[in-house]
Amino acid sequence: MEYKLKCIGVLTSGGDAPGMNAAIRAVTRTAIFNGIRVKAIYRGYKGLITGEIKEFQTQDVSNIIQHGGTILKTARCMEFMTPEGRRTAYETMQKEEIDALVVIGGDGTFTGARIFAQEFNVPIVGIPGTIDNDLWGTDATIGYDTALNTIVDAVDKIRDTASSHERLFFVEVMGRDAGFLALNSAIAAGAEAAIIPERKTQEDQLEALIHNGFRKSKNSSIVIVAESKETGGAQALADRMKAEHPEYDARVTILGHIQRGGSPTAVDRILASRMGVAAIDALLDEQRNIMIGIDDDEIVHVPFTKAIKDDKQVNPDKIGVLQILSI
Ligand code: ATP
Repeated sequence: MEYKLKCIGVLTSGGDAPGMNAAIRAVTRTAIFNGIRVKAIYRGYKGLITGEIKEFQTQDVSNIIQHGGTILKTARCMEFMTPEGRRTAYETMQKEEIDALVVIGGDGTFTGARIFAQEFNVPIVGIPGTIDNDLWGTDATIGYDTALNTIVDAVDKIRDTASSHERLFFVEVMGRDAGFLALNSAIAAGAEAAIIPERKTQEDQLEALIHNGFRKSKNSSIVIVAESKETGGAQALADRMKAEHPEYDARVTILGHIQRGGSPTAVDRILASRMGVAAIDALLDEQRNIMIGIDDDEIVHVPFTKAIKDDKQVNPDKIGVLQILSI
């Protein structure tokens, strides 16, 4: 359908991720550069329903590229999951004369966007902002690199105490049922193993560790565990260890929300800036219902239906790398 793009709305939704501000800045400035007005929508889809909206000028996004979190705030909005809620959101768009949306978030955000776009024929482009890196069709999501570096920094510190006391540490990291953060941080921090949901069906990973004698030549061990019902989490694994192998002095650290915070890395700022520019370019090119992705350092367009299909795989080569290097 032909449409003239005069005004876009931008929002952040779902879990916050470092680099979201850099994406908001890039979207805002690229739109204004192209003569398009920008309306900032606060608290994700909630702000679209309640009308919490402010027009942005270039200076509204000054001095934010270096900050974590999101200046637009984010929220989980149950009302948007109902047809009535989405109807109200559409009415707000009409009232505010917003022609198209840029939504920054994860798979839930894009699921909502896809349904909304279908119901009301609204052009929407998504930008992947989530530390989990669990979206298909993009090598990386905004926030993932920063979270990875935060985890590695924390594990380096845990290693100091682990080796002083000759202990085994289970360190739980985020990932929402995806092992990217766990596997890559394990390689980068020189951990002995990563327990990830992707390998649940293949073996009892804890038993495999014991069987391989993973602690024979070491005075400390660190095992990174992806939070997931598939892995059981770090505490459950440590409890099992105490019951089944009491000879190990097992301790638990759950890194929690520190993984979401902090100033975004240069990698995340650059990724967010490129994706923000690409999102406006895509709308100008009359693209819709797509997520901006990065593949081999090139910007790509991924249909929402594919991005959220939930089968992005960890690279099996990396599992081999970790196993070899942890002897
Ligand atoms: P993260 O991966 O960081 O948690 P996310 O985008 O997956 O981010 P969710 O909380 O799953 O975070 O989704 C964000 C919002 O998207 C929800 O609060 C809701 O408003 C909307 N949403 C999610 N799923 C749907 C759905 N099936 N229908 C309509 N809206 C949805």
